[in-house]
Amino acid sequence: DRVDFNPFFHHIIDRFEMNKVEHIAFERLIPDERVFVWMDQDKITQVLDNIISNAIKYSPEGGTIRFHTEKRRNKLEISVSDEGMGIPTEKVDKIFERFYRVDRARTRKLGGTGLGLAIAREMIEAHHGEIWAKSKEGKGTTVFFTLPLMKKRRDQS
Ligand code: ATP
Ligand code: MG
Repeated sequence: DRVDFNPFFHHIIDRFEMNKVEHIAFERLIPDERVFVWMDQDKITQVLDNIISNAIKYSPEGGTIRFHTEKRRNKLEISVSDEGMGIPTEKVDKIFERFYRVDRARTRKLGGTGLGLAIAREMIEAHHGEIWAKSKEGKGTTVFFTLPLMKKRRDQS
């Protein structure tokens, strides 16, 4: 479907904000601009659900989660950052592998199968996008992905 991404993103964040724990703050850096993406809404919802759940799961008390979208040439870049414990540099790329979990002892109590980001990567690649993460141990993690933007229709201002 052709989706106006920013309102779609707000809607997903709203859903998490309604149920969220009080000690985590949300901050949105989402421009008030119409950006159209051709995508499977259910699949991208699943991708965002996992990224946002991870950000919440690994956020410390009093942490802020930041949501951001930005147009970059013919792509839209979406990111979610947290102020959690982060991921060691040499392990950041591995989190997109199936069943990979950074620290078994640490993650055991937090639950999950280690499949969320592997599925997210498959879905983003099926949309001809890219997904990656940047992280600093003790500072936090940002997960980014891109989706190709649709060309503007001539009948649309
Ligand atoms: P599932 O998503 O299947 O419930 P999961 O959350 O453990 O399980 P992924 O979402 O694939 O699996 O994440 C893989 C691993 O990457 C996690 O177990 C965790 O170690 C690490 N990770 C993911 N997101 C973050 C984050 N925001 N901060 C710190 N570590 C993270
Ligand atoms: Mg997960």
